[in-house]
Amino acid sequence: DIRVRFAPSPTGYLHVGGARTALFNYLFAKATGGKFLLRIEDTDRTRFQEDSLKEIFESLRWMGLEWDEGPEKDGDFGPYIQSERLELYQKHAEQLIAEGHAYKCFCTPERLDQVRKEKEARKEQHGGYDRTCRNLSADEIQENIDDGKPYVVRLKAPLEGAISFEDMVRGIIETPVNMVDDTVLLKTDGFPTYHLASVVDDHFMKISHVMRGDEWIASTPRHVLLYKAFGWEAPVFAHLPVILSPTGGKLSKRKGAASVMDYKRGGYLPEALFNFLALLGWNPGDDREIMTVEEIVEAFTAKKISSKPAVFDEQKLEWMNGHYMETYPSDKLADEVIPMWQERGLVVDDRDYAEGVVKLLQIRSKKVTELAETADYFFKDPEEYNEKQAAKQFKEAVKPALEKLVAELPGVAVWNRDSLETTFHSVADSLEMSPGKINPAVRLAVTGVGGGPDLFDMLSHMGKDRTVRRIKKASE
Ligand code: GLU
Repeated sequence: DIRVRFAPSPTGYLHVGGARTALFNYLFAKATGGKFLLRIEDTDRTRFQEDSLKEIFESLRWMGLEWDEGPEKDGDFGPYIQSERLELYQKHAEQLIAEGHAYKCFCTPERLDQVRKEKEARKEQHGGYDRTCRNLSADEIQENIDDGKPYVVRLKAPLEGAISFEDMVRGIIETPVNMVDDTVLLKTDGFPTYHLASVVDDHFMKISHVMRGDEWIASTPRHVLLYKAFGWEAPVFAHLPVILSPTGGKLSKRKGAASVMDYKRGGYLPEALFNFLALLGWNPGDDREIMTVEEIVEAFTAKKISSKPAVFDEQKLEWMNGHYMETYPSDKLADEVIPMWQERGLVVDDRDYAEGVVKLLQIRSKKVTELAETADYFFKDPEEYNEKQAAKQFKEAVKPALEKLVAELPGVAVWNRDSLETTFHSVADSLEMSPGKINPAVRLAVTGVGGGPDLFDMLSHMGKDRTVRRIKKASE
C-alpha cells in the first residue's frame, strides 16, 4: 500500500516550496490509490510558532490538499503530532542504546564548541563531534548519571565504508561515512531530534515513500543508518528538485517565496496555484500546461519527476491565474469577491446583480483582487470623472447626444443589448454624429473612469435607472 506524508514543522507560514512538497505527495497518493498523511513535526520547541498550525491547515485546505490521516482526522496511526509521541521516541532511543547502536553523550555545549573551533583551526571539513563519549565505560556513564549530568543520545555512525540508498528521482546516492557524524537523536530535554522522530514515525505510520525537498537529501544517509540499526525496512526516498527564483539562487522569502496565504490574499485562485506548482519539477510528458486537478492526477507518475531545478516564474503563474479567472464558475468567484467589495465599502445587496458583474469582469481580470478593485462603478454612481478623460469625452458637441439619450432611453421597452444598440444608433443617426464620439462619453458617464467591459453588455446589466441617472448627471 502506498502511504506518503507531508511533515511540516510549525515554525511559520506554509510557503510555496512546502506547498509543492505537499502537492507532490498528495498527487502521488491520489494517482496510486494510496493515502496522504499529514504529520506535524513540532519537536523543535525553540522554533515553534503558535499560529503556524492553523495557517498550515488552512493553506493546505485552501489548495484542496485535504489529508486522509492526520490532525483533525481519524487514522489508525496517530497521534499525528510529534510532541504527543515523545515516549515512543524515548523508548526507541533506549532500545538503540541497549543494542549498541547509540550512546549517551555528556559533553557540555562549551566543550562541543571548543571541539568545533579546534576542527576549524585544523581546517577539517567533516566529522562534527569527536566521539569522546562513544568510548565511556559503564562505570563512567553511571557516574555521570549519578552526578545528574544532562546528556544527549547519539547514533553510533559507522567508522568506515559508505552509506548508499537509491533515490527515486536522483538514482543511487552514496555518502562516505566521514560525512556522517554521531548524530544527536535525543536532546537533553528528552525531545527527539528531527532524525529520530522522523524515522520512528515513518516506520510506525507505515510510510512507503518519503517525498521531500532536496534540502533534506544530506539527512537521508543518517536515516538509512537508523533504519538499519532498528532492523526496519526503509521507505523509498524521493527528493524533489530545488525551486529557484527567476533571477537565480534559491527561492527565498525575499525572492518571492511567499506564503500560500499571501497568494490567496494577492488574488490567486487555488486551482491556478495547484496547477502551477504541479509543474515545478514534474510534467505530464506532453506539452499541456493548463490542467485540471483530475487531469494532473490522471497523468501523474513519480517517474516524471525531474531532478533538474525548477524555476518559479511568477509571470507564468499570473498568466495561468488569468486563464483560471476567465473560465471560473462565476458564482464561486462571487463568493470570493463579494466580501472584498464589501470591505471596500460597497453595498452589495443583490446577489444576481453581483454575479453578473463578476461575469462581465472575470474575463478581463488576471486576479481576484483586480476584479475586486475595478468594479466600484457597478455599485455606486461616479462622484467625479477622470479629469483627462472628461476633457476628451465631454465636449460641448456631445451634450445633445447625451441629452437625447436621457430623453429616449426611459422609453426602451425591453432593456437588453440589442435594444440599447438600436437606440444608440438611432440617436447617433438623428444627430448625424458618429457613435465613436457618443459611446466613449457614455462610458465615462456611467463609470467615471473609462475602460471596462463592452458598453452595451455593461449598460444592459446596470439597468435602466442607473444608466439614465448617470448619463443625465454627466450631461448637466
Ligand atoms: N519537518 C521537516 C520539514 O519541515 C520534514 C522533512 C521531511 O519530510 O522529512 O520540512
